[in-house]
Amino acid sequence: MKSILQIENISVRYPRAVESAIESITFELQPKTITALIGPNGSGKSTLIKAILGLIPYQGKISMYGKPIEKSYRDIGYVPQRFSFDTTFPITVEEFISLTNTHKDISPDRIQEVLEQVHMLSKKNAALSQLSGGQLQRVLLARALVRKPKLLILDEPEAGVDVGGEQTFYNLLEKMVEEHAMTVLIATHELDIVYRFAENVICINRVLVCSGPPKKTLNQQMFTTLYGHELQFYGHHHDNDERIT
Ligand code: ADP
Ligand code: MG
Repeated sequence: MKSILQIENISVRYPRAVESAIESITFELQPKTITALIGPNGSGKSTLIKAILGLIPYQGKISMYGKPIEKSYRDIGYVPQRFSFDTTFPITVEEFISLTNTHKDISPDRIQEVLEQVHMLSKKNAALSQLSGGQLQRVLLARALVRKPKLLILDEPEAGVDVGGEQTFYNLLEKMVEEHAMTVLIATHELDIVYRFAENVICINRVLVCSGPPKKTLNQQMFTTLYGHELQFYGHHHDNDERIT
């Protein structure tokens, strides 16, 4: 199968950092699949995603459909890891989706459609600040879907999802892949989600540790290589927030 995204020898070194945050990472994404990106906190997942999105400088080659990815940025939807905004800023769900989209061809009908897809139509005129974490997450998903992306990238979306809401959220993603021929790359630390929803998994810890179908790829030896001996391997950090207002 022809891959949709080709990542070749990607390295990122932040200014003044002693070593690269990610080093020579290579993989491909197959179309119409869900691929999970896993790795311990600080392993470079968000860095890799930002490189794919062209938000930070990188070394190496990233292509979409075999062409330089710069031509395809508008075919990519993105749900950031953290999203904070000034809750005193009076803005409705609909206004938020229309105002934070840089393309001017987004019609009210299209906004209606994506809100329906994520089961948030009833909140169209609700204040953004009144939403629960899970509702905000679905609005961010709607915002990412509005331009009908071919590739959807989500950075640890479960951080904002309501307890018990994960299932619904991932079912939604699965539906997008099936009905809209979308390809999904999702950084996550929920291993049950990886097993249940992802066809492929990419494990990184600054370098690529392993990749392949979850059942073949994820074994005890890999976990030890990837995470050391810790069982609780995650904490959240709050840098790199995306902010509006
Ligand atoms: P993950 O998303 O897997 O938790 P990150 O990509 O956020 O990992 O971070 C990878 C490494 O890069 C970490 O060591 C982190 O401290 C560093 N890093 C991330 N963002 C920046 C930045 N803006 N400036 C300098 N170092 C950064
Ligand atoms: Mg991250």
